[in-house]
Amino acid sequence: MECIGRFAPSPTGELHLGNLRTALASWLSARAGGGRWVIRMEDVDTARCRSTLGEAQLRDLAALGLESDGPVLWQSRRAGAYQAALQRLFGAGLLYPCACTRKDLAAMASAPHLDEGLRPYPGTCRHRALPFLRPDALRFRVPDGAVDWEDLLRGPQRDDPAALTGDPLLHRRDGCYAYHLAVVVDDAAQGVTEVVRGLDLRGVTATQARLQEALGLPRPAYAHLGLVTAPGGSRLGKRDGALGLALLAHRGVDPARVLGWLGWSLGCLERPEPARLEELLPGFSWSRVPAGPVEAPADWI
Ligand code: GLU
Repeated sequence: MECIGRFAPSPTGELHLGNLRTALASWLSARAGGGRWVIRMEDVDTARCRSTLGEAQLRDLAALGLESDGPVLWQSRRAGAYQAALQRLFGAGLLYPCACTRKDLAAMASAPHLDEGLRPYPGTCRHRALPFLRPDALRFRVPDGAVDWEDLLRGPQRDDPAALTGDPLLHRRDGCYAYHLAVVVDDAAQGVTEVVRGLDLRGVTATQARLQEALGLPRPAYAHLGLVTAPGGSRLGKRDGALGLALLAHRGVDPARVLGWLGWSLGCLERPEPARLEELLPGFSWSRVPAGPVEAPADWI
């Protein structure tokens, strides 16, 4: 089977070093397997996403030589596919309306950052038999039981979706489709066989596996990369200019140095010296990628 990797940023800001590292790792892994690599813009949450930010992200990726094989998929244009998936789940009795307030749900409305504290939906509306309204907040009745899955970087994993996410929101009351639905529908639509993403999303994998099963979609392989932190291990925040290419260029760090550092941090190079994309490929192997967090260079901050 052909290997197809993907990078799926949300266009809510500039790509930071951690995003760029994920993009590079997904590209290297796909190419090392002789496969293709595609980009998807996860702009399903139209209130938070901007197409101009998406275009800027694509330019940053291109500056590192990372270009999608085939057209970039924009989730904001995929409502028909998401609706069809919802219909299928509805028909199987796997959806229920949720009347929990916006405030309760604020943390779950977009791509979750689970390292900030898991907040599984406690199932408040699961047994309430509320009527279906239009448009409505809809949740997936995630089947009971743990899911076994394999992380390319971390080995065998076993997670209970009820403990990590609870029943995920698939459609919001404001008419937006939600992250979990869009991500599984589009990974399948793009033929993705391998998902490389940040460790902050590790906890949603079992839930997404259940959704794939319910929709009859294949389960890709997963790898969850350690995060890039500020020196000393604290979180790289938006305040650090999120350490994107523009800020780094301003500090005199060009794309070749960024690429060299990223490649080194992924185990492809012995030293963090300037490099071109092709120079990183021969040294890439999941067995050499460190599983833990990596600190950004102090002189880049
Ligand atoms: N769009 C998500 C994010 O930028 C990534 C989703 C995924 O890789 O599954 O956090």
